[in-house]
Amino acid sequence: MSGDTITTGLTALQANGLACVVCGADYLHVRVPHVPLGWSVTGSQVFACIGCTNDGRRVAGGVLR
Ligand SMILES: [Zn+2]
Repeated sequence: MSGDTITTGLTALQANGLACVVCGADYLHVRVPHVPLGWSVTGSQVFACIGCTNDGRRVAGGVLR
């Protein structure tokens, strides 16, 4: 598996790709465009809001498309 593994301090929702790993927005309740950032230790893809990834803060190796 290539790409980043994000391991630090994720909640269960974040680790399962159901919440933003940056701001913690719950995608089950907050409709916001989000992009894949990497992978959690469980192998699930994790996401962050477009706005969280587009503020000049570059996530190392993140897949930003
Ligand atoms: Zn966010």
